[in-house]
Amino acid sequence: MDNRKLIVFSAPSGSGKTTIVKHLLEHTNLPLEFSISATSRAPRGEEIENKDYYFLNTEVFKSKIENDEFLEYEEVYINNFYGTLKSEVERIWNKGKAVIFDIDVVGGLNIEKQFPEETLSIFVQPPNKKELEKRLRGRGTETEEKIQMRLAKSTKELTYASEFDAIITNDNLEIAKQEAFQLISKFLKK
Ligand code: 5GP
Repeated sequence: MDNRKLIVFSAPSGSGKTTIVKHLLEHTNLPLEFSISATSRAPRGEEIENKDYYFLNTEVFKSKIENDEFLEYEEVYINNFYGTLKSEVERIWNKGKAVIFDIDVVGGLNIEKQFPEETLSIFVQPPNKKELEKRLRGRGTETEEKIQMRLAKSTKELTYASEFDAIITNDNLEIAKQEAFQLISKFLKK
């Protein structure tokens, strides 16, 4: 089995993709490791440095862009940069594991374009917009302005779903987790 593979999970925030990715990493024996993204935004809630993200200030983030250290990066929200460092993918591949990404739709498709053979891209779709809004509010970690910003972004993101290799609709979390597990098991056996 060649594990120099990439598994991209993208979705509007609030769709449940992070929960599914966590499940795959913590409760299955799939040979996967999470790609820790770099971001210039501040830590939120219980987030841990070097585990959830590499938190960099904007200046450092921009210097890494200049040095061509990113596989992909984006200014996802104004002044909030997010990106995947090339060194992160190498770090995980060197351990003989496949890389699993929890990233923005545009970033996910960007990775697939660069590594078409090595990538499985999965789009996690919320059952509907009302549910998405409810989930975003339920987190209780963000201001109304931020919630509105995420909702506006999600409307656009939903239009990209068909460009992914697979779509999982998350109306039942247990079923969504199983679907993700099956898709990845099959892909890693190739
Ligand atoms: P959050 O602030 O909720 O952690 O993330 C905001 C958005 O940035 C999410 O859609 C998340 O998937 C995306 N994101 C996280 N890491 C990366 C990355 O490395 N590259 C890109 N392009 N987007 C990312």
